[in-house]
Amino acid sequence: MKTSHSQTPDALHAWSELSAGDLPSRPASERVGDFAEVHRTFDEEAAQAQATRCVQCVHPGCVESCPVGSPIEEWLQLLAEGRFREAAEVVSRSNAIPEICTRLCPRDHLCERGCVLGGPSEPVCIGALEQFLQDYALGIGAVADVTSEPNGRSVAVVGAGAAALACADELSRRGFSVTQFDCGSDPGGSLVRGTASFRLDPAVVRRRVEILRGRGVTFKLDVTLGDRVSMADLRRDFDAVFVGLEVRPARGLQVPGAHLGGVLEGLSFLADSASGVRPDWKGRRVVVVGDDEVALDCARTAVRCGAAGVTMLCAGSEADSACSGRDLADAREEGVRILFGRVPVALQGNEAGSVCHVQIVGVARLSADDGRGSKLGLVSGAEESMAADIVIAAASTDRQRASLPGDFAGIGADGLGEVLVDANQMTRLAGVFAGGEIVRGPCDVVHAIRDARQAAAGIAAYLAGRAVTTGLA
Ligand SMILES: Cc1cc2nc3c(=O)[nH]c(=O)nc-3n(C[C@H](O)[C@H](O)[C@H](O)COP(=O)(O)OP(=O)(O)OC[C@H]3O[C@@H](n4cnc5c(N)ncnc54)[C@H](O)[C@@H]3O)c2cc1C
Ligand code: SF4
Repeated sequence: MKTSHSQTPDALHAWSELSAGDLPSRPASERVGDFAEVHRTFDEEAAQAQATRCVQCVHPGCVESCPVGSPIEEWLQLLAEGRFREAAEVVSRSNAIPEICTRLCPRDHLCERGCVLGGPSEPVCIGALEQFLQDYALGIGAVADVTSEPNGRSVAVVGAGAAALACADELSRRGFSVTQFDCGSDPGGSLVRGTASFRLDPAVVRRRVEILRGRGVTFKLDVTLGDRVSMADLRRDFDAVFVGLEVRPARGLQVPGAHLGGVLEGLSFLADSASGVRPDWKGRRVVVVGDDEVALDCARTAVRCGAAGVTMLCAGSEADSACSGRDLADAREEGVRILFGRVPVALQGNEAGSVCHVQIVGVARLSADDGRGSKLGLVSGAEESMAADIVIAAASTDRQRASLPGDFAGIGADGLGEVLVDANQMTRLAGVFAGGEIVRGPCDVVHAIRDARQAAAGIAAYLAGRAVTTGLA
């Protein structure tokens, strides 16, 4: 293991003397009774001790594995020295909304997978330490500085989800005048209308929105783009445009019986729950169909609605699950039964026309997911019929995005409806940039932030007259 010389020999061995920690969580029996965040924060001493586990690699694999290239070894060193505020500032240099990102990032698939200690020991708990730092810094009012004077240029940011908030943050720090448009009445997009509040408290998103407002960002909410405001309007009224709008396609079940009573669509169920509309499912048996964090949020929300039993059916194996290991463990602790390699083939109804059983088969992936799905093969001997009163369809069956509204269609999309951009995140329309799910389809929040930062840099270069030309026809 080759390391730098900035640590003492004792510090170099801290990893072998202290096991990896994670943010403390509330007991499962308590948290299933409410929708508050599951995880609390480290105390300062514990955070500092965990940071000393980092061996300060010369070529840190964690940094390479982080989509925004967070200089992890640098801020871990500062954290280990107790210089929390400086460490938090280093984090914010590469991540516009780190306190949101760290709560959701599947870090065991990203930075922590790249940690060299993952072989001989356990990786440094990078994500948990990043969350501690950001909550610490924001808790004492230490917010990343605005680095430039107002520059007289204006940018319209379309949407107020993760990509748009991150882009607005980057641009406002660089002195641009930013106006954000969203059809929702609260900023946050999927962060507040999908993701369960027990993983990301909406107050954390609201705090970031207030920081943006404090920097002069204007939010125009309840405005549907393509309807009341067109792309032509935005191009006329602003110097540049960033498009971060997205509507995830509804999730469905393509099996006989999918029309039965008691079969719900996952994203609508979560949106209702986020707005406080939650069913009383005491005594009900719930089956959730789907593999990813959306399905897992549905299952854990169903537990909190009082369900007598919640089973999640995942087509893939645990090894290829998109969910973070921590979220799977939390869900299991809360009583969710997770069956991998299982899909429903039919739903059966009772005389009242409501679902009562799910016919299930075992499956194994025959090919890797190429972004358009993967081939599944049947595994014999795994057929069963499971009693269910509620079935939640949370499998992403339709990769085709809804078409873009009005003249937004002019920014150009591929066959699946995903918007095409060049290396600067510029679309085929000069001065119009895009990022997040509108470009990638369903993606992790950290990738939306990566796009937003790239786009903000592209916008700054474009408006400074540097050679940024759209490479798209
Ligand atoms: C249930 C759920 C759980 C998730 N869990 C995780 C997780 O654990 N980890 C992770 O990394 N990621 C997770 N994600 C994904 C994460 O939320 C996304 O990566 C992120 O929100 C993408 O941001 P975005 O800005 O591209 O899109 P969005 O957040 O969807 O924002 C798009 C915005 O556009 C607005 N809009 C759409 N159409 C219009 C229009 N015509 N006019 C005006 N405004 C419009 C919408 O109101 C919305 O605010 C989850 C998503 C969901 C739904
Ligand atoms: S942004 Fe995500 S991948 Fe990067 S260091 Fe933070 S938790 Fe890890």
